[in-house]
Parts: sequence; C-alpha cells; structure tokens
Amino acid sequence: MTFPSQDAIIQLTREGLAACGIDFDSLLTDESAQSMPLPSPITGQVLGHIAVDTPESAAEAVAKSQQAFRQWKDVPAPVRGKVVQRWGRLLEEHKDDLAKLVTVEAGKTPSEAAGEVQEMIDICELAVGQSRQMYGKTMPSERPGHRLMETWHPLGVVGIITAFNFPVAPYAWNTALAIACGDTVIWKPSEASTLSALGANALLAQAAKEEGAPDNLNLLLVGDRSVGEVLVEDERVALLSATGSVPMGRAVGPKVQQRFGRLLLELGGNNAAIVAPSADMDLSLRGAVFAAAGTAGQRCTTLRRLIVHADIVDELVGKIVDAYGTLSIGAPTEDGVLVGPLISKKAFDDMQAALEAAKAQGGEVLCGGGRVLADDAPDAYYVEPAVVKMPGQTEIVEAETFAPILYVMEYTDLDDAIELNNAVPQGLSSAIFTQDQAEAERFLAGSDTGIANVNIGTSGAEIGGAFGGTKETGGGRESGADSWQAYMRQATNTVNYSGELPLAQGVKFL
Ligand code: NAD
Repeated sequence: MTFPSQDAIIQLTREGLAACGIDFDSLLTDESAQSMPLPSPITGQVLGHIAVDTPESAAEAVAKSQQAFRQWKDVPAPVRGKVVQRWGRLLEEHKDDLAKLVTVEAGKTPSEAAGEVQEMIDICELAVGQSRQMYGKTMPSERPGHRLMETWHPLGVVGIITAFNFPVAPYAWNTALAIACGDTVIWKPSEASTLSALGANALLAQAAKEEGAPDNLNLLLVGDRSVGEVLVEDERVALLSATGSVPMGRAVGPKVQQRFGRLLLELGGNNAAIVAPSADMDLSLRGAVFAAAGTAGQRCTTLRRLIVHADIVDELVGKIVDAYGTLSIGAPTEDGVLVGPLISKKAFDDMQAALEAAKAQGGEVLCGGGRVLADDAPDAYYVEPAVVKMPGQTEIVEAETFAPILYVMEYTDLDDAIELNNAVPQGLSSAIFTQDQAEAERFLAGSDTGIANVNIGTSGAEIGGAFGGTKETGGGRESGADSWQAYMRQATNTVNYSGELPLAQGVKFL
C-alpha cells in the first residue's frame, strides 16, 4: 500500500482550506509561546504552526458576540433560518473540501469524513424547518378571563467546545439550532482539528454575510483548554455546550453550574452490544465490525463491549477475528483503506496499557493490538484493531479507552446481559442483535443508555433523533426534534383580559 508524503498532505490541506476561502500559508506563523502546532495523525508530523488566542482575546470575542446577540435576537426566527439554509447549501457545495480537512486532521477515510459533513447539512435542514415552528403550549387558567402560555426566546451567547474525533459535526449540531434560535456562537474546537474548524466557520461567516446577519454572529477561538476555560468561566456565556472526555466534563461542569450558566455535556461512552442466539449472524458480524473497528475505534459511540450468548460466542468471535484480518489499515487518503491512524502517541500508549491491563485481568487477546506501518510513518500510530476475550466485566472493561479494542464477554441469561450492559459508569449507546421481538423489547426497556438500537451497531446516529447519554456521558441531548429548546429561554405568560384582578389559589388581598 502506498503512503502519502507530508507535501501531499499539506497540498490536500491547502486545497480544502482554499475552497472555504482561506489561504493556508498565510495562517502559518513561527513556533513560539503564542502559537501551537497543526498536527496530522496521517504522518504524525506537523503541518505548521498557527497563532493562538489569549484569555484577553477570548474575552473580547465574548463581548463582540454579546453585542451581535443584541441585534440577532430581534430578527424573526424564519429570517434567521435563512442564514442556516445558506450555510447548509454552502456545506453541500463544499462537502468534499471540508471532508479533506477532516481526513487530514482526524484521520478519517474520505467516506467517513464526507459522512460527517453530511450530518452538518442534515442538521441545517432540521434547523431551517424548526425556525418556523418553535412552538409553545397554551394552558387553561384557573381564573376567568385569563390565559396561560409558554413562549420561547433567544438565550444569548452560546459557547461550544468540541473534541478531535468529530471535528465539525457537533459544532453544527449546536450552531445550526443556536443560530435559528436567535443566539450567537463562539467555538473553541479541539486543538487537534483547528483547520477543519476554520473551514466550517468560514462557510458560516460567508452565509451570515450574504444574508445580512450582524457581524460576529459566529466566532472561533484557536487554542487549547486554557482558551476554552474563558468560555467556561465567563458569565456572559449563557450556554456552554461541551463535547469531549469525562474528565473534561468533570472539570467544566461544576464551574458552569457555579455561575448558574446553562450546560450541555456530551461526554465519553463505553458502548455494548448484546448478540442473542436468534440473531442474524452476518448482520451481527458486519454491525459489530463497523461499530468496533471503524474510525479506528475513535467514536464516542464505538462498540467497546460485545456480550454474546454462550451458544454462539465461538462462531461469532471466530468470524469477527477473520473479518479483522481483512481490514485494510493505512493512510486514509489511499484507496480501499478502512482503518486510519490513532490521533496521537498518547492514544497508542493508552491502548497498549489497556491491553496489558486486560491481560492482567484474565483477558486473552484473540487478534490485533500491535502497531503497523511504523516504517512508512515513524511519527504516526497505526494499529491493528484488537479483539480481547474477557472472563467478565473487569475494571479495564469499565473504562473508555479511545482506541479499537473490542472486549468480548459471554452470557446465558438475557437479564444478566442487560445488567452487564448497564454496569458501567457511562451511558451513551447500546444495541441488541436478535430476531426475537420480546427480547428486543426487554432490552429497549432495560438498557439505561441514551441511544439503544436493535439490529444495528452502536454507532452511526441520524439527525432528528436526540443524541446524548446518561450517567457519566453527561446527560446532554443534541440534534433531536426538540433539542432547540436547549438554546432558548422559556417564559410562562399569564394574560388577563377579564378587567378584574382575581388572585390565583383564591388568595384575597386589597
Ligand atoms: P478532550 O476531553 O481531551 O477534549 C475535548 C475538548 O475539550 C477540546 O477542545 C479541549 O481543548 C477541551 N478541554 C479539555 N479540558 C478542558 C477544560 N478543563 N476546560 C475547557 N476546555 C477543555 O477529548 P478528545 O480527546 O478531544 O475527544 C475524545 C473524547 O470525547 C472521548 O472521551 C469521546 O468519547 C468524547 N466524545 C464524546 C462525544 C459525544 O457526543 N458524547 C462526541 C465526540 C467525542
């Protein structure tokens, strides 16, 4: 298999950015305390360095965003929807360009990278429709000549912090709705995916300008967590939506709550699939392999635990190991590659440590786990996805290791399997493969995750269904039919048209 040169990766980056109206070379600056590297996991080398925001410039951005909000909130919602509609069209036009940047920075295959941009387009469509239907209910009043109603109003500045593995889609899940809801947004993307973010942000800025929206509707901050912390701590940020690891959520959550800000957390997952004896074997196999090895195991919804009935465990696991042997691992820019690189050396080290821990806890590595392509890309980290048979749900299985390790456990009683599914701190996604409807229903009623599927894997959510999890996954919900409410302020209005002033609950006064 061929391997791209660093120059080829830089050229791809240049093309992707140019199509979004950004000159890559003019972004570059010297390595210094005021800059940060722009890495690509494909080669493991840096593409250059970019100037970072400071706490002061981040605070200025918040002030500008607040100023823009004062104008934007008064624009009628269907008119606001036009900006989102235009953004969606620009994203369609530049789908492959933005996807190139996602491939360069997140190491996704072109198909998966384009799929991520498609999610942005899909959420724009949802948000445009919702800009005409931000419904409030009306309620009967206990008092004659009165009416109660709920109304929804723009919230304010929305701060968005995102993770490296979905560099652009979660930004759009938040932004398309927030903009339609009359909010302004400031985005601090992952330090590993700044260029994808610049591209996505530039297309929205273009849409905003073309549609006559106020300046600074959408702002972007470049930098690491120290820049993100400004959004966490600034009281002018009405909603902080943060996607990333559980430790990140633990750090930011209490700070936002301390200042009574609104919070939306989308954190780590540790997703399981149960395979029942009646399951379609081929479907379970393909569902499991895509969910476990796709995106090199770097999705929050990646399948990490496979709970298989004892009667079929040997057959299914044998097929999975065979299928893993056929997966082409390599630079995602090359034709036919299905498994790209890990994001960093740290991710590789974490994977190796998890495999060692699994072995120490009684696990048997059935395949994979080792590094490949080290000669072609000595600074990058490509691995063979691993399958590990475990004697039970040990400590390491309860942790999210952000790499392609699939732990296999067996069960005999479905209630025990559902209990195992639930017995981890995270609660994002789960699945069952079965042809027995009663089993499927028992699973759907019993699984405690925010997403629960039947006869498909744990990954690959669609816009329209609320996305998010329970427990340590943080409780946030995005991109669902009623997710817009998170970006608005609800008010209850009592309207008195009686000409009298009766008090509620029959209270007498004056
Ligand atoms: P990470 O937690 O290291 O970083 C995520 C973002 O948070 C980055 O932009 C980072 O700069 C910022 N950040 C980290 N600590 C911060 C702090 N104290 N204050 C302010 N900002 C801070 O995560 P990652 O390695 O980029 O992504 C992988 C993790 O994200 C996995 O755990 C994965 O499951 C999770 N994830 C969850 C979802 C979801 O929707 N539930 C989606 C994608 C990724």
